[in-house]
Amino acid sequence: MSEKFQVVVIGGGPGGYVCAIRLAQLGLKTACIESRGSLGGTCLNVGCIPSKSLLNLSEEFHKVKNLLNKGIEVGEVKLNLGQMMKSKDKAVTVLTKGVEFLFKKNKVSYFKGLGRIKSKNEISIKDFNDKEITINTDKIVIATGSLPVPLPGVKFDEKVILSSTGALKIDKVPKKMVIVGGGYIGLEMGSVWSRLGSEVHVVEFLEHITPGMDMEISNEFMKILKKQGIRFHMQHKVEKIQKKKSGAVVSTTDKNGEKNDFDCDVVLVSVGRKPNTEGLNLDAIGVELDKKERIKTDKNFKTNQNNIFAIGDVITGPMLAHKAEDEGIAVAENIAGQSGHVNYDTIPGVIYTTPEVATIGKTEEQLKEMNISYKVGKFSFMANSRAKAIDEAEGFVKILADSKTDKVLGAHLIGPHAGELIAEIGIAMEFGASSEDIARTCHAHPTFSEAVKEAALSVDKRAIHS
Ligand code: FAD
Ligand code: NAD
Repeated sequence: MSEKFQVVVIGGGPGGYVCAIRLAQLGLKTACIESRGSLGGTCLNVGCIPSKSLLNLSEEFHKVKNLLNKGIEVGEVKLNLGQMMKSKDKAVTVLTKGVEFLFKKNKVSYFKGLGRIKSKNEISIKDFNDKEITINTDKIVIATGSLPVPLPGVKFDEKVILSSTGALKIDKVPKKMVIVGGGYIGLEMGSVWSRLGSEVHVVEFLEHITPGMDMEISNEFMKILKKQGIRFHMQHKVEKIQKKKSGAVVSTTDKNGEKNDFDCDVVLVSVGRKPNTEGLNLDAIGVELDKKERIKTDKNFKTNQNNIFAIGDVITGPMLAHKAEDEGIAVAENIAGQSGHVNYDTIPGVIYTTPEVATIGKTEEQLKEMNISYKVGKFSFMANSRAKAIDEAEGFVKILADSKTDKVLGAHLIGPHAGELIAEIGIAMEFGASSEDIARTCHAHPTFSEAVKEAALSVDKRAIHS
């Protein structure tokens, strides 16, 4: 007799593992199937965590090299890339093992192998020795995540033509690196390798980086990255990428029809990710996909099949770990008869470069398009005492509030610790706060968060320090 569960979650990423733990907390007999051999999904294994580890380590390296300007003399500073990679790998192992511990603690059954939906109540699992078992379940949550999109006719070999996964484990600092796509991955990984000594060229199809971001922030971001040495080639269409004996040539056509060839040691293709529904047997089961091949769900994450749900990167919405996690909790609560929900208006996005970029709610461009009348409050980190004291005063905070009600509609930050500062605005927005509410809240001095308060004051044209 095959084992029987109330819910089986396919995929052990931040969507799937969080969902499984919440289901177990709610008293449901739960299993989670994961095919990569360790839990945590893209995020912990080849995404958020290793990239943030390398961003931090490369920034430390860069900072130590520049300490002399700050009156601190150190001996010769040398890069030990192998050791740096080991340090990154350690962070990954500790965290993925941590999720395994959480499964044990919460009594989630963990199956290592590839899950396939055999029928609406049966899932087969093929383990790493090709041994197959079948488990039974009342309900299924699909949380199989996403995969990097290659360019047409270009295959990742993860040595010369890299996806983000290859860019996280390069064994020698490339002299020259071309990055196709100026989005989240391109700019984070470009920052890492630029700090470690590569000449980094970003080739971007559009006329601005980070599409969808508030334009003022996007422009400032590119200006700062250029100052750091990253070179941008905007409105360039990649025609082909050809491998050479060593390295590759990236051939592009720009907006004037001019052709350019970029020689490089490695090329990172970071032009987006696609939902991963491979091998799940969705066709046969009748689970509907949308035009972008994402699994179609209703607002309760239910697919067109009554007992099958889907969350995270494999459905619509921003491909972010915290979005997947919140959906995991919401679907678990719905399955348990509660009223889980996700507020998509307050999902922050953070790019962990230096300085960080953080954004939440509506951009100025969106408000214009929606014909919503708004006020803008802005405050530069140049006038923030903490930022000045530590010489990290690039960037600004921008708050958008409704002209009539003063309700905060969005906030966009570029500057030190922007990824942490955005949480305050998230809470304010969840509580329906006005910019005046933020402005009247006492913020500790000297902190970066005073820039948020000052931006809120500036909505009403009464910032004190500018
Ligand atoms: P995933 O994390 O992709 O997990 C899905 C899991 O399902 C995978 O482990 C996969 O092996 C497994 N699986 C797939 N099919 C099957 C099957 N048939 N049977 C069993 N298992 C299966 N987001 C952020 O919010 N912050 C960041 O800083 C950030 N940095 C990133 C950096 C990089 C380089 C990348 C690539 C992504 C980054 N992301 C970041 C995005 C984030 O990783 C994803 O949004 C998040 O992991 C999505 O979670 P998920 O659970 O939906 O899917
Ligand atoms: P992205 O969507 O962020 O950026 C892709 C970029 O490539 C865009 O600027 C796009 O205009 C450009 N592009 C598309 N096709 C192109 C082409 N043919 N030639 C040149 N440029 C082209 O995608 P990504 O950087 O691959 O990241 C994928 C997703 O992973 C992100 O959208 C994000 O959701 C997630 N992620 C998040 C973080 C974070 O939260 N800090 C970090 C990394 C990844």
